[in-house]
Amino acid sequence: MFFMKRAKKTIPFEMNLYALGTVNQIKVYGKNGEKALDEASKRLYEIDNKMSAFKDYSEISKINKSAGKSFEKVSEDTYYVIKKAIEYSNLSEGAFNPAVRPLVNLWGIGTDHQEIPKDSDIKNTLKLINYKDILLDDKNRSVMLKVTGQCVDLGAIAKGYAADQVKKILKKNGIKSAIIDLGGNIYALGNKPDGAPWRVGIQNPLTFRGDYMGTVNVTDKSVVTSGNYERYFIKDGRRFHHILDSRTGYPSQNGIISATIISDYSIDGDGLSTCAYVMGLEEGIKLVESTDRAEGIMITEDNKLHVTSGIKGTFEIINHEFKY
Ligand code: AMP
Ligand code: MG
Repeated sequence: MFFMKRAKKTIPFEMNLYALGTVNQIKVYGKNGEKALDEASKRLYEIDNKMSAFKDYSEISKINKSAGKSFEKVSEDTYYVIKKAIEYSNLSEGAFNPAVRPLVNLWGIGTDHQEIPKDSDIKNTLKLINYKDILLDDKNRSVMLKVTGQCVDLGAIAKGYAADQVKKILKKNGIKSAIIDLGGNIYALGNKPDGAPWRVGIQNPLTFRGDYMGTVNVTDKSVVTSGNYERYFIKDGRRFHHILDSRTGYPSQNGIISATIISDYSIDGDGLSTCAYVMGLEEGIKLVESTDRAEGIMITEDNKLHVTSGIKGTFEIINHEFKY
């Protein structure tokens, strides 16, 4: 399932593996790299097995199958991520919605049955996606959905948690320099081997993966982007993408095409990037500023850049089609 390359002094140990519905690449520098990557890969598979919405045996599937019937006891990992997801739902007044899965299934974006649903189907599905129907029992570490047919989806936050867990393992193994890239959800550990900060690319939302519109210089930071280019289809010249607005039942459409968050913890970056994307420019920037634990870069469909107050000096534009 994964392969590793042997490292020389300033050449990293490198691992590529498929988990969490995406391609993950981890590069570590220094001694102990092989052991650290071996542990990291096991941890990624473990998190995927617990939190996947697709795997029949995952804890999320168990919660979804018991919807409307009974509480399910889950691991500390899953309970923590669900609690964090709900924290972001409350903070964004429902823009972030871990109960959105029935709507995700209806649209099928990125699958072989993607299409614009009928209005009546959207209307019916909207009744099922209230995040307040995710009931928590702290004492028994158990979760239940109130109504049959409801489903939990941690797709907007699990990769952030996984990146934090990989970082923890690398640090425990004495690694001081690494890049953790979980399908574009990045954590830059320490500095580059030459001592300079890591330079992380921000995806150009209008082109292809790996084409950057700018970079940020970071040390011990997570860089996460939510964008309309990740998964989408085009119909009649309109783009239908994978980040959904629970009020309309349609892909979020408020002028934002990408929202990047720079933070200490990747779970916060992943949560906040989705929040900011759905909340839109003004509210999104306001939310990020209010947390005191993150900076943000938002791009609107007129190619304009909007940033939080602490970002200047870190962020460099490399494609001047994008302007403040
Ligand atoms: P991200 O790329 O982190 O913004 O997460 C997007 C993924 O989260 C989608 O592919 C869906 O599985 C799920 N999702 C879609 N809309 C929302 C939403 N409003 N809140 C939370 N998760 C969502
Ligand atoms: Mg996210």
